[in-house]
Amino acid sequence: MNPEKVPHIVIVGAGFGGLTTAQKLANAPVQITLIDRQNYHLFQPLLYQIAIAGLVPSQIAYPLRTIFRRQKNLTFQMGEVSAIDFDARYVRMNGSVIAYDTLVLAVGGETNFFGLKAVEENSFQLKSIESATSTRNHLLRMFEQASREVDPEKRRALLTFVVVGGGPTGVETAGALAELITHVMTKDYPAMDLRESHVLLLEATGSVMTAYPDELRKSTMKLLQGKNVEILLNSRLTDYNGQRITLADGTCIDAYTLIWTAGVRSAELTDRLGVEQAAARRVRVEPTLQLPQHPEVFIIGDAAYVEDKQGQPLPMLATVAQQQAGTAAKNIRNILKGKKPEPFQYKDPGLLATIGRNAAVARIWGLSFSGLIAWLIWVVLHIYRLIGFRNRLVVLINWAWDYFFYDSQVRLITRE
Ligand SMILES: Cc1cc2nc3c(=O)[nH]c(=O)nc-3n(C[C@H](O)[C@H](O)[C@H](O)COP(=O)(O)OP(=O)(O)OC[C@H]3O[C@@H](n4cnc5c(N)ncnc54)[C@H](O)[C@@H]3O)c2cc1C
Repeated sequence: MNPEKVPHIVIVGAGFGGLTTAQKLANAPVQITLIDRQNYHLFQPLLYQIAIAGLVPSQIAYPLRTIFRRQKNLTFQMGEVSAIDFDARYVRMNGSVIAYDTLVLAVGGETNFFGLKAVEENSFQLKSIESATSTRNHLLRMFEQASREVDPEKRRALLTFVVVGGGPTGVETAGALAELITHVMTKDYPAMDLRESHVLLLEATGSVMTAYPDELRKSTMKLLQGKNVEILLNSRLTDYNGQRITLADGTCIDAYTLIWTAGVRSAELTDRLGVEQAAARRVRVEPTLQLPQHPEVFIIGDAAYVEDKQGQPLPMLATVAQQQAGTAAKNIRNILKGKKPEPFQYKDPGLLATIGRNAAVARIWGLSFSGLIAWLIWVVLHIYRLIGFRNRLVVLINWAWDYFFYDSQVRLITRE
């Protein structure tokens, strides 16, 4: 870094990692340019709530210019970074280039369809406001179509909702969708027999929530089954044409809805950097989160491949991204002071997933909880983690309303 001038830190991505890095450098003697292709920070853990018509996008997203209004050392630029020249130290964005002294790459991840092209084209995913809204529109449209469908076979397929992937996102989506049908759709469509509807959770391995301890996996299965979610384990999907699912063992399931939550990989930009990629195409970085041969580049969050002490890759979680942001910001400050950067150490805050009303599973301080207590912890934590007092208040009121009146706020089919 040139000691004559204020170092220029470019942060690409304003998700959990990028946003936290920028905030942690608020009082540092640096000039920051934060770049994102969106003008808002998105709280992805609640995307499934958009899909099941529980919340509106503005309640889980917050404008970046508002977040950083008071941070004097930061400028925000909206744009898509298409290339990075690590030797010349610049990023290419919207046809121009932005030079950096230090780069923090926090571009996150995207859905991994593992090369299943037909599935990618015909399924729904939960990764952005657009994809979650389009899932909501489709789900609601299925009920409209089913309400006027006279062919019982087709009506059954219209009302069969398949969620693929038994991780936390799949479990949360399946549980919430089953409740939407039981508590809300039955009231909206009194003339329809919604016992014909089905929510199926497909999982390729022998268990849901594989990262969770055994007792919580069992609780998850029990809670889901209690909400009428049918769980198909050891069921690997091989094809989907928009109306029929084919499994590896040849079984076919007729369904007009498939929500894919079975895989994540690093953002597409990482494929174009000419750097070493590991599992899920994440970029292999040093324990200090620096790019090998380029100590002025930090890569964090879903885009970075870092192993824990047991040699296992750290999960793609907001908590990992935020803690890595803390280490990257600290290391940037250390380097400015002529000190050595520190290795990253993940402090696991525990595991938490909701399965609908009064139902969640949690592993905190080495203890496992399930049911109402875990659900209350989930509600409090998610409200607390949202950005903006107004969003917190509105989401709290919404959830309280839905809880007491068995309602869901956003049953709108909008044009896309
Ligand atoms: C549906 C869902 C539920 C989840 N639930 C949980 C949960 O309960 N708990 C948990 O801990 N984690 C959860 N996660 C995972 C968590 O959201 C991610 O691990 C976390 O967002 C990663 O943070 P990040 O900063 O690496 O990337 P992100 O938060 O994804 O941010 C990346 C940012 O980079 C921007 N970007 C990407 N490419 C470019 C480019 N070329 N140019 C400019 N900008 C770019 C994107 O617009 C985005 O704003 C969930 C994820 C999903 C999708």
